[in-house]
Amino acid sequence: MLPKVPRSVTLPGGYHITVTRLNRNKANDEMGSEVYAQWDVDDHSILLRSERAGQNQREDFVHEMEHAFIDWKDWFLGKSEHYEG
Ligand SMILES: [Zn+2]
Repeated sequence: MLPKVPRSVTLPGGYHITVTRLNRNKANDEMGSEVYAQWDVDDHSILLRSERAGQNQREDFVHEMEHAFIDWKDWFLGKSEHYEG
């Protein structure tokens, strides 16, 4: 069985990330109707769509974790928390 998408992730140094699943209407409000998922560096949150089934939601999570990891690297190294790229 594959691991579950967690509700939060803490990277080294205490960089805490919350993972929130939004229903369709909330997701459309927060991210726009074309967007599957989102990383927000300002509040260290990943937004996912609850309507996205199993493996798709898992892939969305992993994709956003890659963005989070890039920002975490800069934070951990004392560089800008924001990564433009
Ligand atoms: Zn992306």
